[in-house]
Amino acid sequence: MDMTSVEEVLMSADPDTWRPGDSWLAGGTVLLSYGTDITRGRPRRLLDLTGAGWPSVVWHAEGESEAGNEDAGPRPGQEVWPLPALELAATCRVAEVYALPDAADLPLPRDLLPGLDLFRPCCDSFVASYKIWNVSTVGGNVATALPAGPMTSLLAGLDAVAVLLGPEGTRRELPVADLVLGEAHTALRGGELIRCFRIPVGALRQPSAFRRISLTERGRSAALLIGRRTGPDRLRIVVTASTRRPLVVDLGGAGQPPASGDGWRSAVDTAVADGGWHDDVHGAPDWRRAMTHRLGDEILAELLPGMAGAARTTGDITVERTTR
Ligand SMILES: Cc1cc2nc3c(=O)[nH]c(=O)nc-3n(C[C@H](O)[C@H](O)[C@H](O)COP(=O)(O)OP(=O)(O)OC[C@H]3O[C@@H](n4cnc5c(N)ncnc54)[C@H](O)[C@@H]3O)c2cc1C
Repeated sequence: MDMTSVEEVLMSADPDTWRPGDSWLAGGTVLLSYGTDITRGRPRRLLDLTGAGWPSVVWHAEGESEAGNEDAGPRPGQEVWPLPALELAATCRVAEVYALPDAADLPLPRDLLPGLDLFRPCCDSFVASYKIWNVSTVGGNVATALPAGPMTSLLAGLDAVAVLLGPEGTRRELPVADLVLGEAHTALRGGELIRCFRIPVGALRQPSAFRRISLTERGRSAALLIGRRTGPDRLRIVVTASTRRPLVVDLGGAGQPPASGDGWRSAVDTAVADGGWHDDVHGAPDWRRAMTHRLGDEILAELLPGMAGAARTTGDITVERTTR
């Protein structure tokens, strides 16, 4: 689709180039299919990030400098990754995310990284054409902030942190679950771009589970839940698609609801404020709530040994376990 409001397209990943009325351009699959920037309104200029040259996938060992901070040199307390981390550039494409679990240069044996099993079902959760698969980017998906954004689901489900660069050299980090605030609404400030996402290797090492449901087979996600066992009797479940923004629910720890079906359902109902269940043609709020309860029950049964309840799998996309 033509973007009739656009007067100029620049190759730039420099936040100091940005001025009001500009939009960052990555894969362009939202910008050019809607013909506008649904997050900011009709852009006058597009700043094309695709020439930035950011490596799509970097495994950081402890002690390495962070992306977006290469020139600054080490800063006390901030110069190193607190834990080894997987960095995905904002410009990393969906096809590259899909290929990542098979990479030859994983820093640990594949069976020690069960979180990588989540990558493919999340990619499969796109209502994706060849174009979306090969052109659209992780950063574009998160910055668009659709409730059914599967890269948002993946990253929030793995406790990823977004590294944000802004004008005049500003730099900050936000958990992805806090960056996405609602449909087409993020915490990005004027001129800020997402440089990359940092996934702690610790999260990739935890046992994980994936559940997704849609009104139609391979349709847009109506509820997508990712669970991780964070301790012997503890779980973190991250809800997306059925809620307007990612919702993180911790169960079983001190001061947290119990890791049981009742604990889970009451915690998620308390956390989703009135009107927080998403409502569109892809699912009514009461159905999304019922499905969220059910998928969470299934995750509890899958991840916590000895939990009562059927360890069934609802939904059309499932995890293929390469390891256990
Ligand atoms: C047929 C079709 C099916 C689709 N199915 C889905 C689906 O199932 N789920 C879903 O979520 N989406 C879907 N989409 C929407 C879209 O393809 C994806 O959200 C995609 O991941 C967007 O990435 P992009 O790189 O193309 O973004 P772009 O179109 O380039 O940009 C989208 C927005 O993100 C901003 N942006 C891009 N990169 C950055 C950055 N690094 N920092 C800050 N802002 C940035 C842009 O300024 C713009 O506001 C679909 C689109 C089509 C056409």
